[in-house]
Amino acid sequence: MAIKMKILSAVTASLLLVANTLCHAQADSLSDYPMAAIPGGIVSVPLGITSHERPTVKLGKQPVLTVQETSGEWVAVVGVPLEQNGKLTLTSQQKQWTVEVGTHDYPEQHITVENKRHVNPETNDMTRINKEYALMGPAYKGYNGIVAEGWQKMSWPVKGPLSSPFGFKRFFNEQPRKPHSGLDIAAPAGTTILAPADGKIVLTGEFFFNGNSVFIDHGQGLISMMCHMSRIDVKDGQIIKRGDAIGAVGQTGRATGPHLHWSISMNNTRVNPLLLVADPNGNQ
Ligand SMILES: [Zn+2]
Repeated sequence: MAIKMKILSAVTASLLLVANTLCHAQADSLSDYPMAAIPGGIVSVPLGITSHERPTVKLGKQPVLTVQETSGEWVAVVGVPLEQNGKLTLTSQQKQWTVEVGTHDYPEQHITVENKRHVNPETNDMTRINKEYALMGPAYKGYNGIVAEGWQKMSWPVKGPLSSPFGFKRFFNEQPRKPHSGLDIAAPAGTTILAPADGKIVLTGEFFFNGNSVFIDHGQGLISMMCHMSRIDVKDGQIIKRGDAIGAVGQTGRATGPHLHWSISMNNTRVNPLLLVADPNGNQ
């Protein structure tokens, strides 16, 4: 177990190193924005546009977050899909931008789950799961308002060891499943979960895999999802501030112990939450 944890932290450290190295390659004015041009990372792309109006830039059909530099130039901040290979292309009605995306070999993680339906759902489970996807899909695709202040320097929703990093290739009972789309933070059941940034609650519910879950819309397609909660203390439509209590840590849904699963999505793409926390080593 100790060896496993050491490997996990080494991987986390190497990912941060990648992020920092790439960050320093950028102009100073961009250094506040996340930069990790790898699958599951985030790229900040100067658009060469200084219009008064916010430009609409898309990755595929999904609008991406845009912010304006003090110089007046607009920058697109884009979540890179885990399955992205090579070039990533952004488009507006007039222009196109291409970004080179490198590779990153996320390690494998093998997990034993006792509830076999959480690995191979039954037919009626699939009916439920598909209904849940129909709720979660629009929550992830939402593009509302202006992004919350301090969005690129989020605070930890709970503190604790990172029991499963983002992006790991996962095997449940030795069967391959989707890569880990968030960050798992181990904490005792009942620990209060705090909002990592301002936002609006756009979906709450009890889901088959994710258990009790809360979706926070931080604006412009930046969404947090908190899962496996023992308790939800917010309601759909509620406006929340950074640091507000939203519920408590649990192990509802597919979880082998109490922890918070925290996903961050940009342009409907799950990215590594460590790229958006103010203090990536401050989880303990
Ligand atoms: Zn997780």
